Amino acid sequence: MSATPAGATAPQTRSLGICLACGCKCPKPLAMRYEWNGLSFPAFECPACGMRGLRVQPVGETLARMYSAEYFQTDFRCGRSDTVSSDEAAFRPENDGLLARFEPYRGQGRLLEVGSAYGLLLKHATERGWQATGLELSHDAVMHARGLGLTVHEGTLESVAIPEGSFDIVYMGDVLEHVPDCHDAAARVAALLAPGGHFIVRGPITTHSLARRLGLALYGAVGRDIVLREPPYHLWEFTPASLTRLMRAVGLEVLAIEESKIPPGRPHGKKSAAQQWVMGAIDAVNVPITRMWNAFGDRALLIARKPLRAARG
Ligand SMILES: [Zn+2]
Repeated sequence: MSATPAGATAPQTRSLGICLACGCKCPKPLAMRYEWNGLSFPAFECPACGMRGLRVQPVGETLARMYSAEYFQTDFRCGRSDTVSSDEAAFRPENDGLLARFEPYRGQGRLLEVGSAYGLLLKHATERGWQATGLELSHDAVMHARGLGLTVHEGTLESVAIPEGSFDIVYMGDVLEHVPDCHDAAARVAALLAPGGHFIVRGPITTHSLARRLGLALYGAVGRDIVLREPPYHLWEFTPASLTRLMRAVGLEVLAIEESKIPPGRPHGKKSAAQQWVMGAIDAVNVPITRMWNAFGDRALLIARKPLRAARG
């Protein structure tokens, strides 16, 4: 503790001995790690269920520090966005597109957004007649959303008591990969859905892209790690297959997974000019492949449904 500067707290991390997605005690190293604040966060892959994530995860104060108000200004979506979270005009077209996707699953129009940030999707949903509710961890973001007249619970799926079976859609956008226990979060969402309700998840599947697959294979072959020098925001590195297994494990049926690929020119984290050039060239090939075959994307939209009757046995 004496090495910690005055006013700061000691870094807090935890090491996972098991895969939280399936309980397997056999996670094996994956050839990548984050380096941040003098700490190392190595990744794992579960041979049983294919889940990838961080073997060492930030918790407590270390996790909280990653999500200060600054996160919503500069770092949300991992620095890929040109706008701040509260810029309504910038998010209107994207939210309109998303809400159009929700429409076939409207039911009674009861929508919960987990990780509702500044509440813009909730606001745009309310304008379209949805009964929209938010759940958000950041106090600043909750206050902003409530200032727009929206209903937002402050806390997490774990800490806030929300009546089970009470939503037609639960949406998580760029959130599930950030939660400490993805299986627990998905199970809680499944419980919140009304029978026949839908869980819609959108977010990164970065290690599924061509460039990252190639990088993992090459680095793994020579016993080295891809090093990402940025905060370890993504505790989970989903793939379409592991995400599908996760949904099935909590009793949901997967209806669709739509992959997309971020065009070259927005490299993730700090990279050398040579790394950026190689990744740009691979990404240029990757974009049309993903568009044509719904494969090798680095982002996914998944739609899963809660069965009308729970499976017996
Ligand atoms: Zn597993």
